[in-house]
Amino acid sequence: MSDCIFCKIVAGEIPSTKVYEDDEVLAFNDIHPFARVHCLIIPKMHVASLADCAPEHQALLGRMLLLAPRLAKEQGLDAGFKTLVNTGRGGGQEVFHLHIHVFGGGDPVRRT
Ligand code: AMP
Ligand code: ZN
Repeated sequence: MSDCIFCKIVAGEIPSTKVYEDDEVLAFNDIHPFARVHCLIIPKMHVASLADCAPEHQALLGRMLLLAPRLAKEQGLDAGFKTLVNTGRGGGQEVFHLHIHVFGGGDPVRRT
């Protein structure tokens, strides 16, 4: 997706602060953090949202979700962390490339 901001981050066309990368998944710090630690886990392939996932994405979703506690631990969130997946306009999604927010520390703002 040439106009997708997260695809551009995957391609290195937009800078990001990477905290994890493998062949299928990338994680980087959110540019507008709402907690002391706030990163985004994304698939390298373009998938617009959780609502666009199919059974073929099962392993990828599992890989992304399993990365959350690992990143949280690496970022020092020993007491716990939050995960959030906004889906669709009604779900508050602003960037239409699937991502899991992982955040915690400080006094996180509750997004509903
Ligand atoms: P959502 O509302 O779930 O779609 O959240 C999109 C998130 O992407 C927001 O928290 C933004 O701060 C974050 N974001 C947008 N552009 C960038 C960027 N270039 N680098 C890092 N995070 C970004
Ligand atoms: Zn994309």
